[in-house]
Amino acid sequence: MTGLLIIGAGGVGSATAHKCAQHNEELGDICLASRTLDKCDAVIKAVNIKGNKQNQLGRVFSAQVDAMDIKQVVDLITRTQSDLILNVASPYCNKTIMEACLKTRTHYLDTAVYEREGNINELPPWYANYEWKYKDDFIKHGVTGVLGIGFDPGAVNAFCAYVHKHLIDTIDTIDIMDVNAGSHGRFFATNFDPETNLREITEDVIYWENGKFVKIPHHSKSVTYDFPQLGEHRVYSMGHDELHSLPFNIPAKRIEFWMGFSDQYIKCFNVLKELGLLSNRPVEVEGKSIVPIKLLKVVLPDPSSLAPDYVGKVCIGCLIRGTQGGKDKEIFIYTLCDHTECYKETGSQAISYTTAVPLVTAAILVARGDWNVQRLVNVEELDPDPFMKLMPQLGLDWDVRES
Ligand code: NDP
Repeated sequence: MTGLLIIGAGGVGSATAHKCAQHNEELGDICLASRTLDKCDAVIKAVNIKGNKQNQLGRVFSAQVDAMDIKQVVDLITRTQSDLILNVASPYCNKTIMEACLKTRTHYLDTAVYEREGNINELPPWYANYEWKYKDDFIKHGVTGVLGIGFDPGAVNAFCAYVHKHLIDTIDTIDIMDVNAGSHGRFFATNFDPETNLREITEDVIYWENGKFVKIPHHSKSVTYDFPQLGEHRVYSMGHDELHSLPFNIPAKRIEFWMGFSDQYIKCFNVLKELGLLSNRPVEVEGKSIVPIKLLKVVLPDPSSLAPDYVGKVCIGCLIRGTQGGKDKEIFIYTLCDHTECYKETGSQAISYTTAVPLVTAAILVARGDWNVQRLVNVEELDPDPFMKLMPQLGLDWDVRES
């Protein structure tokens, strides 16, 4: 590959830049672009200070771009001669960046499904409303697009494909579970973009059961699960991107996503919601129109600022039940990741790190040709084997607990 363009220099963009630089022999020159140039320059400085550039002669440089403007993205791709874009900007930018990729025949990876500003409770399946409409165009232009390749969505989709391919003949249920047992010491903060994070928690929960999507109110269903190393944690059923592609590619009676929240988090969340501060409907303040959730985003801690004080571990995995050779089988396939270790290596907390590592693993697989499929796919449609082999080499190991 000659060049790679990362769009977005937040927590995930920063971790992605570090991991790409560690593999710049294969990935080529790296441009980190975002709305705010200073953020990109600060990340690049940190990449150099940490000695994370594998090939010292390879370039890691910055650019300013508004990714909502197709022309600006096309110009930037052309100027930087990029072969591949890693979109880790806001999910609002997916469509414009995809269109720019199609115009320039540049491969495309992202980590979150498209969102329309101000829109909540999108009808399922979310990918069909926007991204999948581009499927024919990707084939026509011979462009590879891999949707949702962070950890969840992303690595967990590959976990499901791997279990389906090697470990369980007939899958009954898939429960994707994500628990952050770490602590950042702040009163209240979100681990990634507050607007995206708080919206996904506020929305009705959609999951897949018996051939259709089912809707329930948020935080209305929870279970306690005993996670490897972390012990018992309460997790809540939540709507999430994976549920909008997995049922179409991996047959299962029920597919559900669960996330752990501390009592403190739930308490703050409920107060903010009751006060109307999670709303995306503008209110008038002294003659100015203000969107409450955007105001909240400004006053909450910047997710990337949590990293230095974060301690503890994250566990994300898939509890998959079914039968193998006519016998019942239960598998928990998972990754554990330590906040402090991530910070030492890349200056990021584990949520950003666990998103970046699968993304950069996929970038290398596209560069090598293993995942250069020249069509638009979700992760579980790809062969999971090269991914499961390479991801540990990039810093995230995985394991299986079987019963
Ligand atoms: P942040 O809000 O910290 O960073 C987003 C970055 O994108 C910022 O640098 C921002 O620039 C930039 N950006 C936003 N809009 C534009 C635009 N129009 N043009 C150019 N740049 C833009 O988010 P995170 O880093 O925490 O998350 C990034 C993405 O990763 C999100 O889509 C999130 O949903 C996804 N994610 C996926 C996960 C997974 O496991 N699949 C887990 C966690 C996150 P500026 O600061 O200048 O405004």
